[in-house]
Amino acid sequence: MDYYGASIGRLIEAFRSLPGIGTKSAQRLAFHIISMPEDDVKGIAKAMTEARHNVHFCKCCCTVTDGEICPICAGGESGKRNKRQIMVVENSRDLAAYEKTGRYDGVYHVLHGAISPMLGIGPNDIRLRELMMRLQGPDGECTADEVIIATNSSVEGESTAMYIVKLIRTLELPVKITRIASGVPVGGDIENIDEVTLERALKGRTEL
Ligand code: ZN
Repeated sequence: MDYYGASIGRLIEAFRSLPGIGTKSAQRLAFHIISMPEDDVKGIAKAMTEARHNVHFCKCCCTVTDGEICPICAGGESGKRNKRQIMVVENSRDLAAYEKTGRYDGVYHVLHGAISPMLGIGPNDIRLRELMMRLQGPDGECTADEVIIATNSSVEGESTAMYIVKLIRTLELPVKITRIASGVPVGGDIENIDEVTLERALKGRTEL
């Protein structure tokens, strides 16, 4: 990258470190940035640092949020949403996909990943412990009636689902466990699936 000079080179490298951005896209973004008015660039930089600083994980469901508790969990507290029905998803983008259907009034638990021995991601690297603590409640009483496992139908998603079932059974929690149905294609990422298919998958869930 030397032929561009050090500053541009650093910017290209910075973009290249982001997911889904290859060298060509990184170069395009970098050259776009240097052609923009300086104030606009400052605005982007500010939005990035502020989001990184302000956003943290909801202390109940682990999704990303600005406050202590996300708006969905707050809805559970106020009785607008059924907090005894917990849908387990791999990431906050999957949560958003289900929210867009407008047909789910339970709450969520966001794992932030899936178990993948290939990538060296084990059960302790995702938010499984938080899920189990949440299900057991502060006084040991089970806090849910149903856990809907909505991890992706990839190998990682399926092994994560099986692992969750095993954990719940081991702890002997009196909770119904369901898995979202077909309609979500094998290997398909939930965030890329249309709302009608997601709604069908949720309706047709089966008990494990
Ligand atoms: Zn929450």
